[in-house]
Amino acid sequence: MWKPDYLKYLPMERQVFIDELQKQSEITWDIVVIGGGATGLGVALDGASRGYKTLLLEQSDFAKGTSSRSTKLVHGGVRYLAQGDLALVVEALHERGLMLKNAPHLTYNQEFVIPIYNSWDAFVYTVGLKFYDLLAGPLSMGKSYFISREKTLMRLPMLNSKGLIGGVLYHDGQFDDSRMAVALAQTCSDKGGIVLNYFKVTALSKNEDGKINGVKATDVVSGEEFNFKANLVINATGVFADDIARMDNPEAAPTIKPSRGVHIVLDKSFLQSETAIMIPKTDDGRVLFAIPWHDVVVVGTTDRPLDTISLEPIAQDSEIDFILQTAQKYLVKPPRREDILCTFAGLRPLAANPNKPGSTKAISRRHKITLSPSGLLSIIGGKWTTYRRMAEETIDKAIKEGFLEKRNCVTSELKLSILTVGYSANRLKIYGDKFTEIGKLIFDHPKLGIPIDPRFPYTRAEIIWICRNEMPVTIEDMLARRTRALFQNARASSEIAIEIAALMAQEFGYDTKWQEEQIESYNQFVKNYI
Ligand SMILES: Cc1cc2nc3c(=O)[nH]c(=O)nc-3n(C[C@H](O)[C@H](O)[C@H](O)COP(=O)(O)OP(=O)(O)OC[C@H]3O[C@@H](n4cnc5c(N)ncnc54)[C@H](O)[C@@H]3O)c2cc1C
Repeated sequence: MWKPDYLKYLPMERQVFIDELQKQSEITWDIVVIGGGATGLGVALDGASRGYKTLLLEQSDFAKGTSSRSTKLVHGGVRYLAQGDLALVVEALHERGLMLKNAPHLTYNQEFVIPIYNSWDAFVYTVGLKFYDLLAGPLSMGKSYFISREKTLMRLPMLNSKGLIGGVLYHDGQFDDSRMAVALAQTCSDKGGIVLNYFKVTALSKNEDGKINGVKATDVVSGEEFNFKANLVINATGVFADDIARMDNPEAAPTIKPSRGVHIVLDKSFLQSETAIMIPKTDDGRVLFAIPWHDVVVVGTTDRPLDTISLEPIAQDSEIDFILQTAQKYLVKPPRREDILCTFAGLRPLAANPNKPGSTKAISRRHKITLSPSGLLSIIGGKWTTYRRMAEETIDKAIKEGFLEKRNCVTSELKLSILTVGYSANRLKIYGDKFTEIGKLIFDHPKLGIPIDPRFPYTRAEIIWICRNEMPVTIEDMLARRTRALFQNARASSEIAIEIAALMAQEFGYDTKWQEEQIESYNQFVKNYI
């Protein structure tokens, strides 16, 4: 394998990677992946684990885009079953099983109950969810069945009982999306790939035949420009895929129809349960979830078509009101605006012609892989749950088209962490098999084991360990995507920003000016989540 042996034993470190790129400036990469969300990281891991020289470039932080703003479900998609998209459901259920097997430190078996108010719904959802189990085959996560009104209320004590006749119980997967992205980056790096955050691709380079042979990129932190030579460039930039396609061909037809999905986060007292609620039909014909996650409740989502895209989408009042009004109908303690701990919005990169009219909720969540005449391979659409399959198909397509020599995909068996039996209940297991290193830090310096703030579980030891191992650049990276403090309680996260900035500055050797700028910028940023 290309990567020098000594690198395998170093932690994933941004400067180490940049130094390596400078030393190896003449190298031609087998694969350069643009985009460090679920799709790009999955593709980079697939490539690196097959032994290809792989470089991934992300313009911001890993999972800064849609991939940290999902509903956090590893699922086949009960809604897609209702839409009759059986092939997608079967594929996603299979991938759900693999994700739970290969990332046991970040995925969970989550129990859901659909509240039932009439016997027709009882019949339809019981039969439908039994079929859902059947489609999962040996990777089923537990049986679905109808439960009585009493059992429903035992599981969901905060559910509005008026007119309730029972519930349909089923199981699906749940996960931590941005930590999953970091785990993919880490595993890709362990396999010899280089993954760089804050590296923006600004242009594609071409040979005299007009074929793409590399990319130009800027290190957003230092401003330094780089040229990378590549046999294959893969565009995995989610809702930004058309921007990259236009770097290749300014006349390229648009391929992405973006839609915004909003969630709100509430205190766990609104649910008081480890069971999630699934509302199968809201007033606008969507599903809405209320899911216990990291000691809070995530409620959402919406689906609104958009004309403009942004890395930092903002939830509109009407979307927040819609979620609140729907939740108020189902919960005994009706949530109000002032109860919201965080509001976040994400953009779905739906693979569909944006000029075609029609609602985005009806567009299939399937992915599409396309190859431009000059050799830009683009992978768009899809779901977090199917990231692995999407990556496998993308690299297989590259092999078929003659960009890469044939090598088999290994990711269906590739563990992102090996969890030792007995540690599964430890919260620190989210750091995978390396969590003992955090334990050692705490053992050596017991004060580092005290949580930074009683509203969050995160300790100083974790922040220090993350600085050394997970490439955070800003305090936003730390509070939004390495820990999930922003999403758990946006206001409280800005109150610990000072301490986070101090710990990061100490680790990286930054001055007080850096800390002040970071705190100011975080406080501005957090307003969009409050
Ligand atoms: C509200 C919502 C809820 C969802 N819930 C679920 C769920 O519960 N389960 C599920 O399976 N799926 C879910 N999804 C779908 C899933 O989140 C997405 O399919 C997935 O995250 C898309 O990943 P991506 O990598 O394609 O895009 P992104 O995560 O957006 O990544 C694209 C990246 O490309 C980078 N980029 C863009 N331009 C450049 C450039 N010039 N140079 C370098 N980098 C660049 C961006 O910065 C960005 O980080 C949900 C989606 C939404 C919107």
